[in-house]
Amino acid sequence: MRQELDRLQSVFRVRAGLLFLDDRDAPDAYATNQPYFASTHGTLVFGRNLLWGMLRDERQGGAALMGVLAHEMGHILQFAIGLQMDHTAMERHADFMAGYYMGIQQPRRQFQLRDFASSLYGFGDYNGSHGTPRERVGVMLAGYQHRDRDLRTAIQAGIRFARGGYREVSSR
Ligand SMILES: [Zn+2]
Repeated sequence: MRQELDRLQSVFRVRAGLLFLDDRDAPDAYATNQPYFASTHGTLVFGRNLLWGMLRDERQGGAALMGVLAHEMGHILQFAIGLQMDHTAMERHADFMAGYYMGIQQPRRQFQLRDFASSLYGFGDYNGSHGTPRERVGVMLAGYQHRDRDLRTAIQAGIRFARGGYREVSSR
C-alpha cells in the first residue's frame, strides 16, 4: 500500500498524509483537504475494515485497492491544483485520473478496471453520486486512454470529460 501511494504521489506530483480509521460499521475511505501532516496537499483517510476486506479478497486486492487509492489521490490532486466543480463532476474527474494512473501502471491489464468498478457497490463514499459501476468504468476507460499524455494534459482532458457527463466508451 505504501509503495502504491509513493507511485501515485510521483505520478500526480502531490504529497498526501495517510490516516487509518475505524470503519467497523461501514467500510469507507475518503480524501480531505485538511493537511494533518506537514507539507502535504491533503490527507487520505482509509478504513481498516475496507483495507482488510480488500486484502482478504485476492481478486479485489490488486485492482480494487489500487483503484480506491488512485481515486482518492485524484481528490488530493484536485486540492493541490485548487480545482472546483460540482460534486458529481469532481467524482468523475477523480475516476478519470484513477483510470489514467491505472493505464500508466498496468498498460496491458485493462480488465482490472472492471474488477475495480464491480467492487464499488456498498462502500460509503462509493455509492450515490459516484454513478453506476458501468458509468464509472466508462470514465476510467477515458482516463486510461490518456495514459500516454503528460499529467497536465490528462488533468485538462479529465475536466472536460467530467463536465460533459457520463458517456459510453467502447472497451473492446
Ligand atoms: Zn470520491
